[in-house]
Order: sequence, then structure tokens, then C-alpha cells
Amino acid sequence: MSDQHGQQQYAFETLAIHAGQEADPQTGAVVPPIYQVSTYKQDGVGGLRGGYEYSRSANPTRTALEENLAALEGGRRGLAFASGLAAEDCLLRTVLKPGDHILIPNDAYGGTFRLFSKVLQRWGVEWSVADMHNPESVRAGVRATTRVVWVETPSNPLLGIADIAVLAQIARDAGALLVVDNTFASPYLQQPLALGADVVVHSTTKYMGGHSDVVGGALVTADAGLGEELAYHQNAMGGVAGPFDSWLVLRGIKTLGVRMDRHSENATRVAEMLTRHPSVVQVLYPGLPEHAGHEVAAKQMKAFGGMVSFRVAGGEQAAVEVCNRAQLFTLGESLGGVESLIEHPGRMTHASAAGSALEVPADLVRLSVGIESVDDLLADLGQALG
Ligand SMILES: *Cc1c(COP(=O)(O)O)cnc(C)c1O
Repeated sequence: MSDQHGQQQYAFETLAIHAGQEADPQTGAVVPPIYQVSTYKQDGVGGLRGGYEYSRSANPTRTALEENLAALEGGRRGLAFASGLAAEDCLLRTVLKPGDHILIPNDAYGGTFRLFSKVLQRWGVEWSVADMHNPESVRAGVRATTRVVWVETPSNPLLGIADIAVLAQIARDAGALLVVDNTFASPYLQQPLALGADVVVHSTTKYMGGHSDVVGGALVTADAGLGEELAYHQNAMGGVAGPFDSWLVLRGIKTLGVRMDRHSENATRVAEMLTRHPSVVQVLYPGLPEHAGHEVAAKQMKAFGGMVSFRVAGGEQAAVEVCNRAQLFTLGESLGGVESLIEHPGRMTHASAAGSALEVPADLVRLSVGIESVDDLLADLGQALG
């Protein structure tokens, strides 16, 4: 990783704790304060201190987070938003215009799909679906008007794996940007910009925040010019992360590496247990050798992450019952926090994709495996599966 100023570079774990965060010059506070402020005193008209004039344009706590995000993804510019979808909306309205086409995955996050199909489509942006795990499908799907190829890897909720380097080449050949939603992996496990992607998207609500106590989003770009355009639109559209939310995400990121290691270890144990369970038809986890994307995941990820999905024998009703019986696994949407969650994507997170090409199997259960004792987690799943 090299820094935008070409300075001495630290390893990921060090950057996670220090990038963008000098001790406060006035007090020596080792953690950036929450600058809960909207406006800034000017030293004469236009005499800004440190470039701050109004907190939609910039706020010091948000700046700390944005510099940290850029460092962790190895990018030139990081931007923090009020939610993952606010980040996606800003990106798409910055780079697309009516008549442009976007190629989307057949297993995108439900809210992302809703943004394409229910919002942007009304503004004349065309979209079509490709199987991002199959490069031929992507090559066949790009058009002369394609401006963006969008990929999630691992994907939500089916844990599909796409080869980022291969897709980056296809997008480049087509004159399109490759956008990678890196929410499931986090930059600790996967660095899309280094593999050729143009923009990384995050729901920082998930692993980056890591404690289920904040909603946020981020964009990181490799290209400084695109970063500048995005920053302009971030201010023009206004969906920025507030100071306290920025502070919570910064705080969460400090432990990202140790959390992801434990999430990955626990998820591996859970996936192995599920593959042996008679009530489970199929386990979707890229760490399993039989997973279709295992080799690509092993090549581009440091470990396989904390998300595991599985299909339950007995269909939809049986899957819903497993979710209802779980106790330590909390029944709820979202993911990426220290506590384990369980949900039924078909009726919960992905209900908005029903009837579309992105509909998920009705017998699917999704786990966000937390960092509790793995023995307690295995015992709870055992009783939930009956
Ligand atoms: C949650 C999520 C989003 C949307 O982020 P919000 O913070 O909920 O707006 C986008 N992509 C993925 C993969 C997600 O899990």
C-alpha cells in the first residue's frame, strides 16, 4: 500500500488505528473529538481555518474517517455518507446520465437492486442483469452505453464470488467503471482497488462500524479526479455522515482486523458443522472447498469472512422455523456486528427482490456469525435446527 503523499507506509492494522488521526493539536486528545458543530468562525471573510466553513461540506471528525477509509482501501479519496445507499446514490448520480446503462449482479443486495430498479430507472438509466461469477456473462452483458459494472463479492445473501481482476479488465475494455461493493469482505480481507476496481462502496453499518450501533456508507476511489467529482456531488446532494456517526465508525475500524479474523474463524466452524447436519441441504460459504468460488476467493481474499447462508430441508416453513427457534443468534436484519444474527432473506432483507431475476430461494437462511464463543454458537444452531 502506498500513501497519497508517498509517505512511509504502515501495515493495515496500524493504519486502521492511526490513519487520518493525529493527536488533537490543542489538547493532545489521542482520539479525534466529535466536532458536533455546523459552522466555523472565519478569520475575516473567506479566512477559513483548515478549510472548514460548514459541516455539510466538511467536518473534522468526518475528515478523519474519510482519510482513514482512503488509507485502508489503498485509494486516493474516501468519502463518508449517512448510509450505504446514500453513498451508492451519490456515486451513481455522479457518473451516470439518462440513456446510460449499468450492468448489475443477479444477486445484488436488495436495497441496491431497489435503487436501480425503482429509483434510477425513472431517471432514464437502463440496467440489466449479469451473472458476475461467470466472466462470459459479463462480457456478453456490456453494451456501448454501459458506464458501470457493479459487483458484490462475496454477494448478499448467496455468497457468490466474482473475480475482481477479471471483471476490472472487462469493464476497462468496455469503457466502464468497475464498482465493487466491499461490504461483506471489508478492506482487511479484500482490496478491490489493488485488483483494478475503480470505486469501492461500503455500508459502514456492517463490519466497518462492527457493533450494530450506527448506519453509514462510504466511497473510496483510486482516481483523484473522480474523487473530486464525487466530493462535489457529496456536498451538492448532502447525504453526509454526521460527526457522531463518523466517530462511531472510526472507533469500530480500530478493531476491524482482529474482528474479521475471529468472524472468519467462527464462520468456518459454523459452515463445517452445517455441512454435516442432516437438516441442511446446502451450505454457501466461500471457505468451503466445494464452493464454486472457493479458488477465486482464496486468491483475492485474506480469509473468507463471517457470512454463511444455508438451505434448509423442508422448504420455506422449515427455514422460517429455524430462524424463530434461534436464541443466541438474534433474529434480525443487517450483519457485520460482534453479535451473531440470523434472518430469512426471502421474507426480510430481500423481500423487495421477490418476482425479479434477483429473487432468493425460499428455503434460505442467512447468518452473520459474530465473535461470541463458537461453542455457544454451534450449540444454538444445533438446537434451532432440531
Ligand atoms: C447493508 C448493505 C448495503 C446498504 O447499506 P445501508 O447502510 O443499509 O444503506 C449495501 N450493500 C450491502 C452488501 C449491504 O449489506
